[in-house]
Amino acid sequence: MNSKTDIVFKVWGARGSIFAGGSERNVFGGDTTCFSIETDGHFLVVDAGSGLRALGHELMTRPEGPPSEIDLLLTHLHIDHICGLPFFAPLISGLTKVRLWNSVYPDPETLRGALSRGLAPPIFPVDTTVWDTLEIRVPEAGARISLGPESMARAFPLNHPDGACGWRINSNGRVVVIASDHEHGKQSIDAQVAYYARSSDLLVWDASYTEEELAARRGWGHSTWQQGLKLAEKINVGRTLMTHHSPERTDDALIDMERSAKAVADKTLFAREGLTIAL
Ligand SMILES: [Zn+2]
Ligand SMILES: [Zn+2]
Repeated sequence: MNSKTDIVFKVWGARGSIFAGGSERNVFGGDTTCFSIETDGHFLVVDAGSGLRALGHELMTRPEGPPSEIDLLLTHLHIDHICGLPFFAPLISGLTKVRLWNSVYPDPETLRGALSRGLAPPIFPVDTTVWDTLEIRVPEAGARISLGPESMARAFPLNHPDGACGWRINSNGRVVVIASDHEHGKQSIDAQVAYYARSSDLLVWDASYTEEELAARRGWGHSTWQQGLKLAEKINVGRTLMTHHSPERTDDALIDMERSAKAVADKTLFAREGLTIAL
């Protein structure tokens, strides 16, 4: 880190729906959604897709070992956002206490029940007692939650099947906003997304679909990069990071999309595994 005020945002998985590997997907990677935000004093993870496995490995190989505590902000429980959890070595080894946050569920035990029904034998061969070790918190949307000395976050609703929440994360004076998975177009929710994403340094936006695809996929809970850039311009966002790439999308297709998006707003990036942004 360059100075005390830096935060480092890193992409561990940028794919939506399901892992998609192969030689045509080497640049952007195949792992599903996972991001980390690190400051001098705190380690934060957003979503636990298959990218969480590599993040866990990196933390385990640090000379000082993995952090004793990690806050994991979940947008929702769809499988592409939680499938990395049973592979997260710091949790499974018992070395790291994981606090899991989500605002969609009415109480911690409802969330824990959903998670342990989904990731349990015979669907997945995990010792389900590991889910009992999670410290689950379900703050109301809009409530300020403290995540360490210089970090706080607020959840806000997204428009997505089964419900999802975005996160406005304020860390060491920088603001990162996660708005995936989200289908733009429902005015009451769009207004809240715009409110919570205003003036952010980095907006992480759901760009699953092209405009052509969107017409046939209304109600599936995803958006386009064009919708993200229109919003970002209106609400004075610094950089916009497009994510949740369709598993069908090849590197060539994503590079083309990124080029088109940059022509509209040059501070746009398409998320790829390993991408690090210092803010
Ligand atoms: Zn998803
Ligand atoms: Zn989803």
